[in-house]
Amino acid sequence: MDERGRIPDLDALQRALRPCRRCVVAGIRVESMPVVSGGRDADAILVGQAPGIREAENLTPFSGPAGRRLREWLAPAGLGDEESFYGRLYIAAVVRCFPGKRPGGGSDIRPSPAMVRECVPWLRRELELVRAPLVLSVGTLALEELAPGVRLDDAVGAELTLADGRPLLALPHPSGASPWPHLPGNRDRLERALRMVAERLGP
Ligand code: SF4
Repeated sequence: MDERGRIPDLDALQRALRPCRRCVVAGIRVESMPVVSGGRDADAILVGQAPGIREAENLTPFSGPAGRRLREWLAPAGLGDEESFYGRLYIAAVVRCFPGKRPGGGSDIRPSPAMVRECVPWLRRELELVRAPLVLSVGTLALEELAPGVRLDDAVGAELTLADGRPLLALPHPSGASPWPHLPGNRDRLERALRMVAERLGP
């Protein structure tokens, strides 16, 4: 077992995660320090892909345009303002440091399998230490990690179950560059998924 699986509590995990440079040591390029957000009493754990360039600067997850869109989506669940979003959610990710931009400065690099292997033990231990009753995945990489083999089209709007028995609700990535919400049938899937989140977390 990776030694991170033996970290005794969330405070110890976050203390160890904040200065992590494992990728640098392994020769994998990262362009920020790790982004860490949330406490053990969160109402839900939200798992994203990786920080973007804005998050790399201020070390706050979902602080750019994609975060604003995500909060709009989650407003019916009472998570539309920053205080509720950051206060009620434990915000994790498959990869915790910004992987950088693609050549030419366009979209963000998708984290490589090597980077995911290096980083994901942090997430696995967080899922054990934060006992929130609901897990939300955002985007395909988070879904692949939490529910291997399940397609985003099949997951959004359905209720999945994690190996530990907790419900998992999947959302697409809220990036404006994502074509997914505009493809046939997906708007209905997304609206169904957001209603399900609101039923569990809403006022
Ligand atoms: S991406 Fe993860 S494993 Fe790599 S340096 Fe950042 S926190 Fe550490």
